[in-house]
Order: sequence, then C-alpha cells, then structure tokens
Amino acid sequence: MLSLLDERICETNTKWRVQLDDGCAVEAVLYRQDSLCISSQVGCAVGCPFCASGAHGFGRQLSADELIAQVVAVRERGRSVARVTVSGVGEPLHNHDNVARCLAWCRSEGLGMSLTTSGGPLDRLRAWMRLPHRGLTISVHAGTEAARARMVPRGPKLAPLFDTLGEELRTLSGARKRKIAAAYLIIEGVNDTEEEVDAFIDLVRPLDVKVHVYSHNAVPTSELHGVSEDRYRALAGRVRAAGMNVRMSSLARTQPNGGCGTLVALRGPRARPRLGAPA
Ligand code: SF4
Repeated sequence: MLSLLDERICETNTKWRVQLDDGCAVEAVLYRQDSLCISSQVGCAVGCPFCASGAHGFGRQLSADELIAQVVAVRERGRSVARVTVSGVGEPLHNHDNVARCLAWCRSEGLGMSLTTSGGPLDRLRAWMRLPHRGLTISVHAGTEAARARMVPRGPKLAPLFDTLGEELRTLSGARKRKIAAAYLIIEGVNDTEEEVDAFIDLVRPLDVKVHVYSHNAVPTSELHGVSEDRYRALAGRVRAAGMNVRMSSLARTQPNGGCGTLVALRGPRARPRLGAPA
C-alpha cells in the first residue's frame, strides 16, 4: 500500500516521505511525538503561491486506505499517535468522501481528527462543519478579495465563504463552534498591511471563532516570504487587540521539516528525488 522513507527528525518533528504504490509520493509529519499530519492528495489544485504542496498542480486523490495507512505505518514504527490532522499535501475538501472515511476510521480508533481547508467547495464546507471533527481551520489569509485571489487563487471568494460560515456557525452548539478557526498567514507585500489585517478582523470578528496567525516558512518553489519577527508579532498583536482569541505559529509549525506549506508531493512513476529538495 505505502511505505515510509527518508525519516528526518528535527527538534519537535519527524517527517517521512510516504511512498505510494504507483510511484507517487507525499509527506507526513509527526508533531510533538503524538500529533500526526497526513496528506490527502498528490499535489493540490488550489495553487496557493506560498505553498510547496501545490506547486506542481494536482496529481491524484489519495484513497481512504492510503489516508488510513499513513497512520498505521507511523504506528508500526513504534510511534504513538494521539490525534490526526489532515493538513499536509492536498485540499481535503476536494477529496471529501475519502477524508470522511478516514474520519470514521479515526473515530473507531479513538483518535480525534482535524483538518485545514481553503474552504471550498462551499457545500462540502457546510458538511464538514457538521461532521464530528476535532478542529476545522479555514485558511483565509486575506481581508480583501484582491489579496484572497492572490493568496488562495482557486479557493472560494471571501464574500460567499463568510456568508457560508456565518450561516453554518449559527446552527452549531458552543462546543462545536469552538472547534472552528480562521487562519491568516502573513506574506510580505501581499497581505501584511494594517488595512488588510483590519479588513480580515472585520470579517472574522462577527463569527466569534479562534484565529491562527501564521508566520511563513520559506519553500524552494516560491519567492514569496514572510515578514520580520517584529512585524509578525505586531500584526498578530493587532488582531489580539481587536478582542480576538489568537494563536501564533508554534515551534513545531516553524520547523524546516514540517512547517505550514512545506510538505511536497511527487508524481509517479517511481519518483526518486528526495522530497524537500529544490525543484
Ligand atoms: S496551502 Fe493547502 S490549499 Fe493551498 S496549495 Fe497548499 S495544500 Fe493546497
């Protein structure tokens, strides 16, 4: 089914190449010894310009068995997995049925499962907001449609996305609502102005959800880069000062072997280059 190769350990993370039977490969990362990030597709069609995962477009869906096998393979290495997040290579809502099967399997194993999505298709976002996940993070990354189009080119526009979020959140219990978060990854020259961040605050504040403000991890497939640490802290502080519940990038999420947007995919047949090497 698949094998884990090229184990790379760095501070809090262990990353593997997930070699698939047809020669394609993706990556999986174990964060802090017990949180496993798995991939849902070979490549990604959304095309976020800061992200290595979709730099070469979409290859194919991972089957439900391939999603589950990533967890099984890590356990077979003697590593414990307490929770699973579908936040690696791929847009999980573009592979809805298989990711939903993986969620059912995780629950049968007593594992909580979370996911990160660019938000589309919106009917699937509605469905996922009601499913028994342990966390759904929506990658917003903008306050205006212009910045959204640059950051998440083939994700839903902000207006329909926030209409959908507003409608669905009204139907959720407080406990389920607390599992939803909006993410803002800061990229210099794209979405790093006070005006852009304020527009994001205006969109998100009425939803009363958590906000993740991420710093950027450099990837060899993109010339985009993040802002200085001081600027990052200042912009995250601006969101917090607006009364929002803000989480910043953890150490695990800024490591070179597993930071947001750093996981890569290779298409078959029998791709040989080391993942993470410059394209
Ligand atoms: S950030 Fe997520 S949605 Fe965007 S290209 Fe990367 S994997 Fe796809």
